[in-house]
Amino acid sequence: MKHISQKSIALALSLCMFLSMFLWIGQVPAEAGKKAKNVIILIPDGMTVAGTTLARWYQGGTPLAMDEMACGLVRTYSADAPIADSAPAGTAFATGHKSHTGYVGVLPDAANMPGLAPIAKGDEKKPVATILEAAKLAGKATGLVATSEIMHATPAAFSSHFPSRKNYDDLSEQQVYNRIDVVLGAGSKFLSPEGRKDKTDLISIIKNLGYDYVTTPEAMKNSKSDKIWGMFSPTNLSYDMDRNPAEQPSLAEMTAKAIEVLSKDKDGFFLMVEGSKIDWAAHANDPIGVISDILAFDKAVKTALDFAKKNRDTVVIAVTDHGNGGISIGDRATTKTYDEEPLSAFIAPLKKAKLTGEGLESKFNANRSNIKEVMATYFGITDLTEEEIKTIKEAKAGSMNYAVGPIISKRAHIGWTTGGHTGEDVVLYVYAPGSVERPTGVIENTDVARYMEKVLGVSLDEVTKKLFVDAKAAFEAKGAKVEKVDDGNGNFSLVVTKGSTKVELPFNTNIAIVDGKKVEMSGLTVDNGVKTYVPSEAVNLIK
Ligand SMILES: [Zn+2]
Repeated sequence: MKHISQKSIALALSLCMFLSMFLWIGQVPAEAGKKAKNVIILIPDGMTVAGTTLARWYQGGTPLAMDEMACGLVRTYSADAPIADSAPAGTAFATGHKSHTGYVGVLPDAANMPGLAPIAKGDEKKPVATILEAAKLAGKATGLVATSEIMHATPAAFSSHFPSRKNYDDLSEQQVYNRIDVVLGAGSKFLSPEGRKDKTDLISIIKNLGYDYVTTPEAMKNSKSDKIWGMFSPTNLSYDMDRNPAEQPSLAEMTAKAIEVLSKDKDGFFLMVEGSKIDWAAHANDPIGVISDILAFDKAVKTALDFAKKNRDTVVIAVTDHGNGGISIGDRATTKTYDEEPLSAFIAPLKKAKLTGEGLESKFNANRSNIKEVMATYFGITDLTEEEIKTIKEAKAGSMNYAVGPIISKRAHIGWTTGGHTGEDVVLYVYAPGSVERPTGVIENTDVARYMEKVLGVSLDEVTKKLFVDAKAAFEAKGAKVEKVDDGNGNFSLVVTKGSTKVELPFNTNIAIVDGKKVEMSGLTVDNGVKTYVPSEAVNLIK
């Protein structure tokens, strides 16, 4: 240091100050009110810390893209249970309210876990606004990306409302009429008449609403539309390791396309991306499926992060909704030898697998006489026991991963404690530009929604008031008559009459028919099986 003059230190200091001032000026949009224009939340369903550690070792030990974003822990319990189902866990992220197993975008009947405020009488199953709906009302573009069917619990929780995740008919109809700009994933079966109880052809409706409806990665890539609906499988997409890239895009490719389209909106955007099947692999105790889709998820995170770092006005959140499987590196067999086992003891057996347990299923012949060959070729296992062969032989259609997952886990000393979800805290990963705050410490899953609303400068409570008014109470207060009408095919409407005015509100749509004339509303008519809720603008249609 001796040879550096005072003068050059002073010069260096002022240069630093000048540069930091320059950088600060560059971040003004984010600094003002500490908001960001865009939010991307990526949800690796059912991912655990041990899963990410395993995926990192599997790729050679280099950091995952999400590693640099780790900043806290999230409590995942639902309103009335310590272990969450994806529906209430997704609802917590989307709406800021904990809910009950199976409940999508609605309040629970009771909130009795320690420290929770009780649910007010009459508010049971009440729909509550999602961050996607709030972003849309603020003029932002919105998008949903998933590897499962798009009406599956997590994407449904951001875009629809019903107290049963199994009600695909109503959830998907709401998703279509919620006017999301970009929807990429799977589930065309549940949009087609043959896959629906109400026989509605939602694919035709999607096209009529002006979407570019695409079914191949090529068509997705080439689409120039501002509204894209991409369905690349009738049900769910393959695990990334099993995926045919000519038929199905990767999660990262779908994420890139969604960002490309949504970022054209000058008001900003909200995007939810789900790596859906990490959870499914964990249920099956298949470590290959877990690794395959954590790494695919991480590439999607990198896509979002690269965009955010350039864009400087985007917050990226990655957080799972709950743990699953109780996966561990080390099992009962390593109780006495855990610190003597080399890395290869865990990773080498996994590296031999060319497909996930699910991908393996199609390689067995009809009478499963080629079990040894298939397991040697695609799973690298040549020492199957008679019992293991029997397990594979007897595996039910569609559940081969449940048979072979534990077989490869045993050889790699990967432990599992359950085939179900688990109740521990999960890691919060956030990238925020400039001085936009990042949550730290241990937060609630509902705080993730509250953070996004703060970042985007919207109010979920205000949007709930605007979008979900108790229809009967509101219309009757105006002296109108209200009745539920069935068209005979299971399609219900709320019909409101006062004097010579008649307003029809078809359930699960944003449409009001006023004296025979179609009017579009900014929200949906939602019936939760108990009450019907309508946007406040529907109430204003009756004078
Ligand atoms: Zn889940």
